[in-house]
Amino acid sequence: MSDAAAIATRAAARLGEREAAGLRRVVREVERAEGVHLRIDGRDLVSFASNDYLGLAQHPEVVRAMQEAANRWGVGSTAAHLLGGHRGPHARLEREVAEWLGYEAGLLFSTGYLANLGVLAGLLQDGDVCVQDKLNHACLIDGAKLAGCALRRYPHNDVDAAARQLDAAGDAPTLLATDGVFSMDGDLAPLPELARLARDRGALLFVDDAHGFGVLGPDGQGSPEHCGLGARDVPLRMVTLGKAVGCGGALVLGPRELIDALVQFARPFVYTTALPPALAAAASAAIQVLRREPQRRAHLQALVARFRAGASRLGYALMDSVTPIQPLRIGEAGAAVALSQALMQRGWYVPAIRPPTVPAGSARLRVTLSAAHAEAQVDGLLEALEQARPA
Ligand SMILES: *Cc1c(COP(=O)(O)O)cnc(C)c1O
Repeated sequence: MSDAAAIATRAAARLGEREAAGLRRVVREVERAEGVHLRIDGRDLVSFASNDYLGLAQHPEVVRAMQEAANRWGVGSTAAHLLGGHRGPHARLEREVAEWLGYEAGLLFSTGYLANLGVLAGLLQDGDVCVQDKLNHACLIDGAKLAGCALRRYPHNDVDAAARQLDAAGDAPTLLATDGVFSMDGDLAPLPELARLARDRGALLFVDDAHGFGVLGPDGQGSPEHCGLGARDVPLRMVTLGKAVGCGGALVLGPRELIDALVQFARPFVYTTALPPALAAAASAAIQVLRREPQRRAHLQALVARFRAGASRLGYALMDSVTPIQPLRIGEAGAAVALSQALMQRGWYVPAIRPPTVPAGSARLRVTLSAAHAEAQVDGLLEALEQARPA
């Protein structure tokens, strides 16, 4: 006979292990949020933790677009996309982004996580091969597992190793998946080399541009454009709307044929409620703002340069990143947590990222910059980093 308590006992044991290792994660309630200002535990903090890279999550025009759409469409979409939930703002957003980025078609998912599960499990099957960077986001890994294909991971950004994995795949249908910007390191994938490799080897290249879209490239189109590439080089792309766009949801962009297949076979598209139409309307408005106001990206780039210069003067170990993700490598989890807490005492919110989110021994402070920060706030953070510097 099975023992119902066994599950709870095991869960408690695993929790205990995590606690003992100093790796237990906590959900903190944010009591107030106004731009980069947060209140947590009654304390007012300036946040360097948000993915709202352009300061659009509370932009008046974006909020107004959401309110107006909510007045017109209500709050819930009331159904899945295939059953009457696909409303005007969803369709418009898919068209606008596909056209802007030069793809035949786009498909809206409720989150980026679901989009990646949908793409991989919807297009790949047993007998196929999915080649991935070791530092790819968890949902790309999970998507390949769900697909039941062979998952082959190559060392981070190692194009030669990726080539060997593709060669080993032989004639099996193969998809090469990479983050455009790696979420915990902030560095870019070598997209021109990977695009060439995929073309040479006949693999389908899929780029998850969660952190590049809106931020990188001359017009904010993303990491492929930053590298001088476009839809021809990156046939399939995922962009999220919950990061630089400041809203929520995600789009998969690609050739009509593949998008049509996802409509049929991507279970995370088919079997879930369409996101609120007002959120799609807000995302359209946010994309208009980011296209119209390149000064947001210019200010952000200036802040990135300012932070990097300051942090390296202080002797912190920066990573190879030109993006607003600027982690400071600390090493031991305990030291990263202590530094994060010392910063919080001084009014700065910069979370420590520990294993298993990042490899053991590479705990870090994940600093993210936003166009909503002022130079003086970056200087203030640097000053606090100087005072709180580990011995
Ligand atoms: C955040 C993120 C996702 C997931 O997107 P959500 O919309 O937050 O679910 C996927 N891939 C990468 C690289 C990310 O950073």
